[in-house]
Amino acid sequence: MNKKTLDIDVALRHISKAVEPYPKAAMFELAEDGFNSPFEQLVACMISIRTFDEVSLPTARKLFARARTPAQMSKLTPEEIDDLIHTCTFHERKAAQIHAIARRIIDEFDGNLPCDSETLLSFSGVGPKCANLVLGIACEKPFISVDIHVHRVTNRWGYVKASTPEKTMTALEATLPREHWIDINRLLVPFGKHICTGTMPKCSTCPVLDMCQQVGVRAHR
Ligand code: SF4
Repeated sequence: MNKKTLDIDVALRHISKAVEPYPKAAMFELAEDGFNSPFEQLVACMISIRTFDEVSLPTARKLFARARTPAQMSKLTPEEIDDLIHTCTFHERKAAQIHAIARRIIDEFDGNLPCDSETLLSFSGVGPKCANLVLGIACEKPFISVDIHVHRVTNRWGYVKASTPEKTMTALEATLPREHWIDINRLLVPFGKHICTGTMPKCSTCPVLDMCQQVGVRAHR
């Protein structure tokens, strides 16, 4: 039997239409609302770790209503930040990390977070997913951010074969055309949440069914 092959340009075009009715991925929605500085994107991404978008979005907005820049954030105490973000997971630790990052940006970078991967990854609490989202969305640099949705969907397609999000990121860097590096996250987060879901994906009505190998899918809708 011929293996199905995925035309990434066509697939992402179909997916872009299919996700129109659904809420945008959190970081992209915040960026469209003007919270698009590297610092705001970094803080919002940290808030979103292990927290549903439905919670992390209003939490980020609440914090940004008090402090949007490293200078403003460093004037709050970690306890005040914790109070503002207490709805998100690991809020106490995240509050301390956000405060420490704001202070370091003031002390070492004159108050401006540089668009630099090494610097971002040197902050406690920041991993490749958040660093790459900041670099992609706020800095408009070609970086791929792979969360659980991007990982699951691209592996189901058979487009990559990787056991962890980190390995999927490396595999996508080798395969995915650069013009899609930022958009893949924007499109596959809502697609993974609402169509190619973790359990019982909606394959029978999926717009890329004819190109998808459905790797590991045992039951679907
Ligand atoms: S056909 Fe099924 S497994 Fe493949 S992308 Fe669509 S929903 Fe996901």
